[in-house]
Parts: sequence; structure tokens; C-alpha cells
Amino acid sequence: MSLLIVGSIAFDTIITPYGKREKIIGGSGTYCALAASFFTRPRLAGVVGEDFPCEMIDFFKEKGIRTEGIVIKPGKTFCWEGRYGYDPNLRETLKTELNVMASFEPVLPPNYQRSTIVYLATIDPDSHEKILSQINQPCLVAMDTIQFWVINKTESLWQVLKKVNIFFANEEEIRLLTKETNLVKAAKLVLSAGPSIVIVKKGEHGALVFGRDFIVGTIAHPCENVVDPTGAGDSFAGGFLGYMDRSKKITQRTIKKALIAGSTVASFVIEDFGIERLKRLTREEIKRRMRYFRQLVSF
Ligand code: AMP
Repeated sequence: MSLLIVGSIAFDTIITPYGKREKIIGGSGTYCALAASFFTRPRLAGVVGEDFPCEMIDFFKEKGIRTEGIVIKPGKTFCWEGRYGYDPNLRETLKTELNVMASFEPVLPPNYQRSTIVYLATIDPDSHEKILSQINQPCLVAMDTIQFWVINKTESLWQVLKKVNIFFANEEEIRLLTKETNLVKAAKLVLSAGPSIVIVKKGEHGALVFGRDFIVGTIAHPCENVVDPTGAGDSFAGGFLGYMDRSKKITQRTIKKALIAGSTVASFVIEDFGIERLKRLTREEIKRRMRYFRQLVSF
């Protein structure tokens, strides 16, 4: 199989009770691709401005991430700023500057067009149709979003959901999208719109997978050091889809295992600011924590 990730590549400014970091590398595509790279060789597509460091693109390559789909455009890279309090599940977005992302129309390189798993990470839902029309019969299309697009492009999101197999959302986003506070009812509403699986991320409380005839869930790995929750959701999706890509089959069993893989990678990301923990993370650490995680969730 082959995993294509289309998402934001960004500069983030992050404020948490443990400090502030300005203009560090972030973005939904960045987190997702780095997380997936522990399981497979993902293809990353996105746009950056001329201010984006070339060393970062080299770093993606070192991690086995294909970068031919990253476009450098005149102008500034997408910037986002967020603040967290002591509850890591709650964040306030202080700034979203789309910059070069505002006019981005992804044109996928020919080798990307043969991807079998496609992940539409947090980007403008209006570009999703254009991306999907360039891919030859993907066997799995997954999608995530963020409050900004749920508020500003609600109709486009519902439209694109018709073409999506797996929809990832956090509690806040799915409630906002469906206007339904009960998560089971909210997930059912999304399932009736097209996807066959809805994955609700519940931050430090874990994740729930809703299928048409099953529900499975997991707790999150109990972390003592939650320094910066940014990117946990995208890393969860990256770990999940990277694992699915490596398994080469889509069954309930691989979905359950992928759930643990995604939760494990996400549990590392939050231990440091931005992508710092992902940069020094090893496959051995992931394997060890996945083993521990299995013990935690089996009974
Ligand atoms: P997460 O914490 O996993 O929900 O994702 C955080 C990442 O999403 C940050 O690195 C941001 O750069 C990126 N992000 C925030 N808002 C947007 C947006 N409106 N469009 C695309 N990416 C975004």
C-alpha cells in the first residue's frame, strides 16, 4: 500500500503552562507524516512560503518521507498560534494566518497519484475534491479537520464527507459539526453522511472508533509530562494510518491495532514542544510503549 498525506506545514506559536515557543515547525501534515514515518514511507503534499527552512524538508527526507509534493510559493508560510491552560484538552486559537495556504491548489506529482491510502489532514475542505480527483482509485480515504474549518466551511465539510471512509475528529469538532452533544448520536450522524468509520479523539481520555456495527475504544497512555498537546491528534492519525498502510489490510483487527499504534505515537508527542519529541523518538521506544499499552487495555 502507499500512504499520501495532504496537510498544513506551518509555523506555530504555542503557549502552555510550561512555557512559550515562537514560530516553531508545526502543521497537520508535518505531525502526521512524521508519526506515520515510524511505520511506513508516507508521501507528504502541502505548501510552504519562501521563509520555510530547507533543512526541515531535508529532515523529512531523512525520515523516509517523500517530499516531491511540497510546493514552495512566494510569500509567507501558514502561521498558527494557540494557548493551553492546565487542562490539555482545552485550547484557545489566538491566530490563524493562512498566507500561502489561502490560494493553494494542490497538483499531485504523478507518483503520488497512485496512492492507495489518502489522508486529507487539516486543510481547506474546498481543496479536498480537487485532490481526490487526481488519485486513481484509492482504497481508503481518511480525513481530519479543525474548528476553524468546521466554523468557516461547514457545507464543504459535509459534501466531502460523502467521499470519505474514515473521519477523524475531536469531541469538540464533531459536536460543533453535527450540533449534537451526545458523541454516539454525533458519530451516527456522520456515519449516515458517508464514512464507514468515525474516530473520535478524546485527548487524555483516549479515542473511540464507531463503525456501522461496532464500537471499540481505548484509553490514552497515562502521561506524567504533558508539556504541549499540539499535534497529538495529527500524530494519532499518522500512527494509525501508517500502521494500516504497513499491515496492507483493512480489518477490524488491524483497526484495533492501529488504534494502539496511533495512541502510542500521540502519547510521545505531548511530552515536549512541537515536533521535538518526534525528532528524537525511536522505533524501539514505540515498540516498548505499544507492548505496555497492550497490557493496559487488555482484560
Ligand atoms: P492538532 O493539535 O493535532 O489538532 O493540530 C495542530 C496543528 O494544526 C498545528 O500544528 C497547526 O499548525 C495546524 N492548524 C491549526 N489550524 C489550522 C487550519 N485552520 N488549517 C490547517 N492547519 C491548521
